Amino acid sequence: MNDASAGNAPATAVPALRVEGLDAFYGRAQALHQVSLDVAPGEIATLVGRNGAGKTTLLRCVMGLHRHATGSISLAGRTVDRLPAHRRARLGLGHVPDDRGIYAGLSVEEHLAFPYSDPAHGWSLERVHDTFPVLAERRRTPAAKLSGGEQQLLALARVLRMGSRIMLCDEPTEGLAPVMVRRIGDVLREAKRHGVTVLLVEQNLRFAVTVADRHHLLDGGRVVETLDNSAVKDREHELLDRLGL
Ligand code: ATP
Repeated sequence: MNDASAGNAPATAVPALRVEGLDAFYGRAQALHQVSLDVAPGEIATLVGRNGAGKTTLLRCVMGLHRHATGSISLAGRTVDRLPAHRRARLGLGHVPDDRGIYAGLSVEEHLAFPYSDPAHGWSLERVHDTFPVLAERRRTPAAKLSGGEQQLLALARVLRMGSRIMLCDEPTEGLAPVMVRRIGDVLREAKRHGVTVLLVEQNLRFAVTVADRHHLLDGGRVVETLDNSAVKDREHELLDRLGL
């Protein structure tokens, strides 16, 4: 079960994101079983687990794209269970889905011209270009002509530009070359430096320990353990075996 001693945020801090007792279904098949977790403000937390563990379903429930059957989700102490995804976005939630959500025919700069969901926190174009120089170079390129890694960077840049304070990132490193995986890590650390909170789905445990503070291990739709980064590093071989990664 959850290891409450594993680097949890102080009890007094209101979590940026709190999930409590979530059950979720597809038809009669249950995908999530009583999932509870907190993500502290400014923390990078991962959801780690094998295919089918429920990671994407959990992100989609948090974003409001899949309805949970029981339980509750709150952002900075505010319950959002009844809010549709666009209202959650206005409260600072940004989603980078596994298919990246990129529009093939729009250019890089058109993606970055999407309206702010939070004008107070939206990154300036200058900051976006400093963090993602390749997007400045490719500003007039249609997204369809970007490499997979560049598309992923664009998907991350878009939510930061829109002002998301909590990013839900679904396997941003999947299928990318090592150099691009490192670049994604740099971007996540840079976002954290600017106070952004991240909940990251990641099957690549070796990458996860380079960016994250804590890890929630999912198996069979349940959070089976929550570990801080050093515990995952110490137990890496055992966890890779156990989670079939
Ligand atoms: P992956 O890395 O393969 O995406 P995951 O950990 O993100 O895995 P989910 O995609 O959340 O897992 O799937 C959790 C469970 O829900 C699995 O048993 C999966 O088969 C099932 N599931 C996911 N999407 C659907 C769907 N649209 N219809 C029916 N069942 C689904």
